[in-house]
Amino acid sequence: MKLSCRAASRLISAGMDRPLTVAEHLKLRMHLLLCGNCRQFSRQLDLLRQAARRAGDGAD
Ligand SMILES: [Zn+2]
Repeated sequence: MKLSCRAASRLISAGMDRPLTVAEHLKLRMHLLLCGNCRQFSRQLDLLRQAARRAGDGAD
């Protein structure tokens, strides 16, 4: 049931494109609680996504 950092980062990226399943979400949450590296990765991706969305406003 334990998630590797590689699997966790895959889930983080996947979560940007599609909703995660409940099981995926729970596993990821558990991992992020324990793993500062992946927490930071998740935060960075989130910031990137927000920046990309802002940059993409009005443009195609
Ligand atoms: Zn990790």
